[in-house]
Amino acid sequence: MADQNIHYDALIIGQGASSYAAAMYAARYQMKPIIFGAIFGGETAIGGTIENYPGYPEIDGFELMMKFREQAEKYETPIVDENIVKAEKLDDGFMVTTEEGDTYHGTSIILGVGRERRTLGLEHEAEWTGRGVSYCATCDAPMHRGNTVAVVGGGDSAVKGAVLLGKYAEKVYIVYRQDRFTRPEPINLSQLEAAENVVSIFNAQIVELLGDDGLTGIIIDQEIDGSNQLTVDGVFIEIGADPRVELPNQLGLELNDQNEVIVDKGGNTNVEGVFAAGDLTNASGDLKQTITASAQGAIAATSAYDYVSEHADSCEIHAMGYTLVEAV
Ligand SMILES: Cc1cc2nc3c(=O)[nH]c(=O)nc-3n(C[C@H](O)[C@H](O)[C@H](O)COP(=O)(O)OP(=O)(O)OC[C@H]3O[C@@H](n4cnc5c(N)ncnc54)[C@H](O)[C@@H]3O)c2cc1C
Repeated sequence: MADQNIHYDALIIGQGASSYAAAMYAARYQMKPIIFGAIFGGETAIGGTIENYPGYPEIDGFELMMKFREQAEKYETPIVDENIVKAEKLDDGFMVTTEEGDTYHGTSIILGVGRERRTLGLEHEAEWTGRGVSYCATCDAPMHRGNTVAVVGGGDSAVKGAVLLGKYAEKVYIVYRQDRFTRPEPINLSQLEAAENVVSIFNAQIVELLGDDGLTGIIIDQEIDGSNQLTVDGVFIEIGADPRVELPNQLGLELNDQNEVIVDKGGNTNVEGVFAAGDLTNASGDLKQTITASAQGAIAATSAYDYVSEHADSCEIHAMGYTLVEAV
């Protein structure tokens, strides 16, 4: 049970893979962690089938995140199903405020609030995510063996995504609203040009997603071979994602030119006592996945443990070393 009178060792913000992994490690270090987040499971939970998380050849993302949650609950980590709207530094640590105005105190903060995917804003886009609509070619390309798919975007991730998809799909359309690609790295552009099954459609935008209980086609605002309707099994929206920087800004965290929170290899930010993990950060470059987020959550919790061991008078884990405890 969450208790506003407790001074927690780690205020973990987010309910995605990075946060749950951090909570599990923190609990096993015998810290007192607490998790906050209005939306359970983060991106993994809405990602459809996951085929690249070790130990699970194929698992629904929601089910995988339920396993993360069950593991946190096994250690009796309190979970507050509310977002944090304010995070601030106090003399004796940190205070966070939930949407309902409740406040919680802690010695450290671990931020795992991820990124906001840019969307096309089309009807059915959210509903069919995981059913033909995807925001991650790295994740879902292998599911499109022999299929026809479309990629939307003209940046590096769109071009790389189209090249990757071309290795699985029979045909790939890349739909871009400008008249040529200017932003991708030259090597990625060369690979795109060499991929014979990838067709670039310039000066075009998707205006409608077609389907019944999932995607079966798209309508674009220009004609290709006499039709503006393309039959596709999947559409990959690769138009970028924005790290959620509201809380990092409140805490004065340093960001890089992509607005990612800058962390060192221990998940330390520039503010003592504040750690960050997962897609919010620059930790794993372009490879932003459930496995990397989980690993970074574990690393951030380990650094938080070190920090709390040094700084918290009330902390029960002083000088205990890294002896892990069995789950209750
Ligand atoms: C469609 C799709 C498919 C994917 N498929 C795969 C795949 O097959 N394999 C794979 O490895 N990866 C996949 N990914 C990527 C993977 O899901 C992410 O890399 C991973 O979820 C990142 O975890 P995270 O904890 O950093 O962030 P997230 O999972 O984004 O979690 C962030 C959490 O923070 C919460 N939050 C935001 N603001 C606040 C706030 N103010 N207070 C409290 N909580 C807040 C959010 O609600 C969310 O719960 C996919 C992603 C997408 C979008």
